[in-house]
Amino acid sequence: MSIRWGLIGASTIARQFMIGAIRAQPDGEIAVVMSSNAERATAYVSENGIPSAVSSLDALLGSEIDAVYISTTNELHLEQALAAIKAGKHVLCEKPLALTSADARKMVAAAGEASIVLGTNHHLRNAGAHRAMRDAISAGRIGKPIAARVFHSVFLPENLQGWRIARPEAGGGVVLDITVHDADTLRFVLGDDPVEVSCFTQSAGMAGSGLEDGAMCVWRFKSGLIAQSHEGFTTKFAGTGFEVHGSEGSLIASNVMTQKPDGSVLLRTAQGEEQLSFDREDLYVRSVRHFHAAIRGEGHPSASGDDGVWSLASAEAALQSAASGKAVKIDPKLGSMN
Ligand code: NDP
Repeated sequence: MSIRWGLIGASTIARQFMIGAIRAQPDGEIAVVMSSNAERATAYVSENGIPSAVSSLDALLGSEIDAVYISTTNELHLEQALAAIKAGKHVLCEKPLALTSADARKMVAAAGEASIVLGTNHHLRNAGAHRAMRDAISAGRIGKPIAARVFHSVFLPENLQGWRIARPEAGGGVVLDITVHDADTLRFVLGDDPVEVSCFTQSAGMAGSGLEDGAMCVWRFKSGLIAQSHEGFTTKFAGTGFEVHGSEGSLIASNVMTQKPDGSVLLRTAQGEEQLSFDREDLYVRSVRHFHAAIRGEGHPSASGDDGVWSLASAEAALQSAASGKAVKIDPKLGSMN
C-alpha cells in the first residue's frame, strides 16, 4: 500500500529535492500541497504534477493522506506539526523543528502520546560521507576523538535571499538555518553530545533586521572533545569540509556539507593515507526511505524528533552565547542555560 503525502508549504526545498525523493520510493505518492497563496499554488501544482492544492491546514489534514512534510518558514512548524499529529498524520518536519527547544519538545511529546512518527529532516545524516566517518570513528580507526572542525560557510543563492536574511520573526538567520545542521552532524558523526557552546556572530553585509549571516562556534562535548564550526551566508569561495582528529588518526572530509552525495573522506594514520569509499545515494531519498520504514514499524527516521530538539537546543544556546558574550550550557531537556 502506498504512503500518501501532503506537502505543507509550496517551498523551494520541496521542489528541488523532496518531491523527487518521495516519488523515488516504490510506495511514495504526493496527493496534495498547501500554500497560503492561491496563484503560487496553482503554478506549483502544475509545475510539479501534484493532483491538488489547498489553502488551509484543515483542508490538507482532511485529505486522504498518511503523512505530511512541513517545509514552511520556521515560525509555522509548531502549529502545523501539532495539528497534523492531532489529525493522526505522521510528520516529517524541516529543521529547525520550531523557534525554541521548548516548543520542539511539545511536538515530540504530542507525537509520542499519539504514537505518530515524527522526524527532523537533517539530511546530512543520510550522506554516505558522514556515515563513513561515523563508522570509522566507532570502529576505533582514529583512536580517541580529540577535536573536530566543521566548515559550513556558503553563499546563500539569490533566490533564497528572502525571509532567511530579513525576517527574525520567521526564524531567519544563519544559526537557525545552518548551525542546527552542524550541531546535528557533530552529534551523529561523533556519537557524542554537546554540553556547552561559545559563539560569535556577525552581519557581514547580507542579512538585515538584526539577523546574523555568519557564525563561529566552539563546542565542548560530553567526552571532553572540543569542536569548531563556521556557518555563513556570504562566503562565495569557501568550500565546505569536516575534520575529526583523534589520538591515532585524522579524518579529513572535503565538500561534504552539501545537499548532494558529493565529496571525499581521507583517513590519515601511522599506516599512511586512505580514501574511504562510501555510497552515493541521494540524501533526501534515503531520508524518506527511512521515514517510510518507520511508518511501517520497521525502523526509525534518520533523525528523530529528539534529535531535532538537540540541534535546536544547541543553536539556541549558540544564539544566547552570541548575545551575552558568555559560554552557554546545553541541555535539551531544559533548553539552554547561561
Ligand atoms: P522557501 O522560501 O522556498 O519557502 C518557504 C515558504 O515561503 C513556503 O512555504 C511558501 O509559502 C513561501 N514562498 C515560497 N516561494 C515564495 C515566493 N516566490 N514568494 C513568496 N513566498 C514564497 O523556503 P525553503 O524551501 O528554502 O525552506 C523551507 C524550510 O525548509 C525551512 O524550514 C528551512 O529551514 C528548511 N530547509 C531545509 C533544508 C534541508 O536540507 N534540510 C534545505 C533548505 C531549507 P506557502 O507555502 O504559503 O506558499
